[in-house]
Order: sequence, then C-alpha cells, then structure tokens
Amino acid sequence: MDHVSGLRCLICGKLYQPDEVAYVCPEHGREGILDVEYDYGLISLRFSPQSLAAQRDHSIWRYRPLLPVAADAVAPPLTVGWTPLYETPRLAAALGLHRLWVKDDGRQPTASFKDRASALAVVKAREAGAAIVATASTGNAAAALAGLCASVQQPTVIFVPESAPPAKVAQLLAYGATVLLVAGSYGDAFDLCMQAAEHYGWYNRNTGFNPYMTEGKKTVSYEICEQLGWQAPDAVFVSVGDGCIIGGVHKGFADLAALGWIDRVPRLYGVQAAGSNFMAEAWQAGLHGLRVLEKPPIAARTVADSISAGLPRDRIKAMAAVVESGGAFITVSDEEILAAIPALARGSGVFAEPAGAASYAGLAKAAAQGLVSPAERIVIINTGNGLKDIKSAMTAVQQAGIHPHPVAPDLADVQRVMKSVNGER
Ligand SMILES: *Cc1c(COP(=O)(O)O)cnc(C)c1O
Ligand SMILES: [Zn+2]
Repeated sequence: MDHVSGLRCLICGKLYQPDEVAYVCPEHGREGILDVEYDYGLISLRFSPQSLAAQRDHSIWRYRPLLPVAADAVAPPLTVGWTPLYETPRLAAALGLHRLWVKDDGRQPTASFKDRASALAVVKAREAGAAIVATASTGNAAAALAGLCASVQQPTVIFVPESAPPAKVAQLLAYGATVLLVAGSYGDAFDLCMQAAEHYGWYNRNTGFNPYMTEGKKTVSYEICEQLGWQAPDAVFVSVGDGCIIGGVHKGFADLAALGWIDRVPRLYGVQAAGSNFMAEAWQAGLHGLRVLEKPPIAARTVADSISAGLPRDRIKAMAAVVESGGAFITVSDEEILAAIPALARGSGVFAEPAGAASYAGLAKAAAQGLVSPAERIVIINTGNGLKDIKSAMTAVQQAGIHPHPVAPDLADVQRVMKSVNGER
C-alpha cells in the first residue's frame, strides 16, 4: 500500500499511517472521520487512461491502483461496479435539458449502490483477520454486506430497524447473515451496532465511521468519467442520507482532477427528502465546513427509507462535497419522490426505489429553479433498484393514477378493455 500516504482526520488534520488507526481519529472519537490520502505522483507512474483502456476487468477493481488495498488483495467474486450509464434524451427534453444520463446502480449484485462500499469492507475485514463483520443499515448497506460476505463465506451480523422494507430483510436472511431487527430507528440500530462491535471485537463497516467506505463509493465517479470518455459532466445529482455516497462521489472526481485525467470537479447536488433534511438545513444556515457538527439531530421521517437519517454520520464529507464543488442541497417532498418513480421508469426504463428516484426529483426541481442550464451535461445516479420497495412503487403508481385493467379470461372482454384503453389515449 505504498500508494496510500495516510489517513487524515478531518477535524484536527493529523495524518495517520493505515496501521496506526482502525477507523477514526483517536483524539476525536466518532466525529473524527478520516480521509484516505494518496501519493498521486506514484499512482501516475503506474496507472493512466491508456493502461485502463486495456484493462479487461469490468468491475470496481479495474481502479485498484486508486483503492486502499494491497496489490495482491483478493477481490470478492461478486461483480461490483461498471454499471450502465444511459443517455436519456426524453427525460432531458421533459426538463428542458439536452444531455442527461442515468447511472444505474440498481444494477449492482445486491441491487444498490452500497455494494461498492461493502466490497471494500470485505477486503479490509479479511486484511484485519476479522472473524465477524458487522454493520447497521437502513437496509441496503446490510443487504450489500450480507451478499458480499456470502460470496466469501464471511460471517456477518446486521442491525436493521424493524421498519426496513421486507425485500431488504429477505435478502439478508437469504444470504445467511445474523439479522438483529432493532425496535427503533436507524439511529438506534447504529448506536447499538457500534456498542456491540466494540464489545465483541467485530470488524465495523458502519457508514461515516469506517474510512474505507468512501473509497469504495468513489468508484462511481471513475466509471462516469471513463464512460464519458474522460469528459467530466457539469453537474451530478445524488440523494443524501448519511452523506457517505455524495462524499465518495466527490472524492472520486477529486482524485481524477488531482491526476489531471479530468479538468474540473462537477457541481454536486445532494438531494434530501423534506422529512429528512439535516444537510439541507445545515447548508442553508451556513453551517459549512466543521460547523456542520454544531447542528443537533433532527427527527427523520420519509417514504425514502434509504435516506432517512436524523444525524447524517458522514456530514463533514457531505458538506464539503457540496460546498467545495459549488453545488447545492435540494429538498423534495415525499410526493415528489414518489412521482419521480414512474416518471424515471417511463422516461428511461430505469426502475428505482424511492431514494434512487429522489435524484431525478431533485434534478426536476433544480431545472425549474434554473440551477442547471440546457447547455450542461448532467448525470443523475439511481442508487437502488425499484424491486427493493414494492409497497412504495405501488403507492407511487396509484398516486399517479396508473392502474391495471381487470379482465375476464376471454377475448371479448379483452376487446372491451382495449376499447376503453384506446379511448383513454
Ligand atoms: C444508502 C443509500 C442512499 C444514501 O447514501 P448515504 O451515504 O446514506 O447518503 C441513497 N439511496 C440508496 C438507495 C441508498 O441505499
Ligand atoms: Zn483528530
């Protein structure tokens, strides 16, 4: 790991060697989030867009020289990353834009963006010789960890709020994780998992605590730039709960800018649910930089369970992502999030869970407010597959007035129904 120059505390700026610290700055406890720093000069000698073009590994591991793992670390067998980037002219036109792409991370092996981080977690846990890996999660990080762990026979213990959508819990159980359904919120599950991991000495994957999760998540930005021929987009929209994804998105673009592979970091827009808008409130109140730590937790409530976070664990990195890139935090109502599910599905063929569709709802709002212009190249990230939360998808289509047509098992009745369908058109 000679390409990693250290892990820097985002509060005091102290630089640690990877073997000196496990997760956070010892002097700053849970808030002392670390950022992995690299020797870009050394990496440049080994790695270039040209060497990548010859790389036949189409997964996040094609970017191994930019990841905090040893050169000989064994990647888990599930294929994580290299998800499709679809250009969607119809969606673009509907918003008065010209060039819009959807990065579909609903296509990951466990059907959410979280696989990018959990793949790193599994490798780092093996490196640490951990018997058990643990995480708290609103559902997707858990499913991702459970799936990646199953692929390498790594035991895992998962803490999820009892309100987690059944599809996500089903994934955990099928993958063989030990599932603790916490009678409480994600915040409660997080605190409990932190205590238990410390008590039992489990490897801790928790978001906004384990510094390597950002490093897995940043691979999405590498892929976006490579898929766009190393022409960075102008703006990227992604939903924000704990803030780890947007922090990772920022890190990925910043890495490429430091290497000189792209000429600028896109403006990053963090989309939050109105009922879980900690970051948006903090940003609007001017609590930028470390001042974001001054804001007390809020009570979070939204249909988009994956972005329901009363105290975003990665708030320092999330705030930096938006402020340093010149973007914004945008809030959207649950109604707007639900309406975005069929709009995105019909306009692009991408079926998203509420938190995934929120990025599209945020873009629609930004376009209406003139935050983006028609000449710009824009990417929205779908962070989770629509099949993750069928109840919300059904609510969404019902609210949009979309319904199936009951029919008797005979052609005459089909003809009756088709007449009325054609009449509606
Ligand atoms: C986790 C998650 C998010 C938000 O990521 P954070 O790092 O918590 O901000 C968004 N969408 C989906 C589908 C997720 O699973
Ligand atoms: Zn510190």
